[in-house]
Amino acid sequence: MNAHAPVAAVSALVDRFGRAIDYLRVSVTDRCDFRCVYCMSEDMNFLPKRDVLTLEELDRLCSAFVALGTRKLRITGGEPLVRRDIMHLFRSLSRHLDSGALDELTLTTNGSQLERFADELVACGVRRVNVSLDTLDAAKFRAITRWGDLGKVMAGIDRAQAAGLAVKINAVALKDVNEVEAPAMVEWAHARGLEMTFIEVMPMGEIEGQRVDQYLPLSQLRADLARRFTLIPSMHASGGPARYFDVRETGGRLGFITPLTHNFCESCNRVRITCTGTLYMCLGQEDAADLRGPLRQSDGDHLLNAAIRAAIARKPKGHDFIIDRTTRRPAVGRHMSVTGG
Ligand code: SAM
Ligand code: SF4
Repeated sequence: MNAHAPVAAVSALVDRFGRAIDYLRVSVTDRCDFRCVYCMSEDMNFLPKRDVLTLEELDRLCSAFVALGTRKLRITGGEPLVRRDIMHLFRSLSRHLDSGALDELTLTTNGSQLERFADELVACGVRRVNVSLDTLDAAKFRAITRWGDLGKVMAGIDRAQAAGLAVKINAVALKDVNEVEAPAMVEWAHARGLEMTFIEVMPMGEIEGQRVDQYLPLSQLRADLARRFTLIPSMHASGGPARYFDVRETGGRLGFITPLTHNFCESCNRVRITCTGTLYMCLGQEDAADLRGPLRQSDGDHLLNAAIRAAIARKPKGHDFIIDRTTRRPAVGRHMSVTGG
């Protein structure tokens, strides 16, 4: 029997709450050229290279998920575009777009390398990218990212748009840091034809300082924005956790991802893989399954498929994120850069 079973013979992944899992996020590296204050500590210990899956192994893993019904793949990190030869993976995965097995291949990036890679991404079938950008002020940008250069990110966004990529800007709402800038960011993004989404900071991994000092509830930010703009609830649904509004004054779309103030787990359709092949069934829970073992134990996919199915069967109902003065420990010990945002 062919160990790589034909797609049609394999039933899709559905968890015990009836949620069809057809969206996979893959962190291809835990490394990054930035050290954003809410994401990493300044002094990070990164994984030894031998623990990280090769690009060929990442391809095999992604392809196994595609054969099990994954329709959307997002490549993330760490910073995915700093992984050496990462375009080999995009090029190789694009065969699933060509075959129609995959609807979308996309990426979340800090934008620092986008100027260099935008054209190649388009050639690999990528149509949309999310760029994380929390401020338009160069000094503040440097303070938030510790190492980042705003000019490079802006050049990356320019190149991406020129190459025909739809760009969505994701900004983490940070108390006393970028909240005053939110209206200006919305105006800037919409004037450039970019969608804009704000995200609540999540208690993941130890960082310098207290989460509660960073945390800005989006209910508050939205109320502030509503004083400036007319926010019309939108019917648009991305299949993800964001809630959307059309902004009358700018004609653009604005999203809010609110894991803390509004829990969106009931419609969760996704799972995440780290660059070591650990499958996390929920961003906010510790339970995980090792897929590197079964991947390396056999050239065929039967062990891998069994491990994936067993893991999906235990996907938890939801996360338990809390940020307040009394909860000092992060909800999960790992940083967002491990699981990928
Ligand atoms: N380096 C890429 C980037 O910054 O887009 C991809 C990986 S990064 C971990 C993915 C997303 O997670 C970014 O939008 C980042 O702002 C967000 N993020 C990181 N840590 C977070 C946290 N603790 N809470 C909320 N969002 C976080
Ligand atoms: Fe790097 Fe992205 Fe984390 Fe910032 S948010 S440190 S760019 S992985």
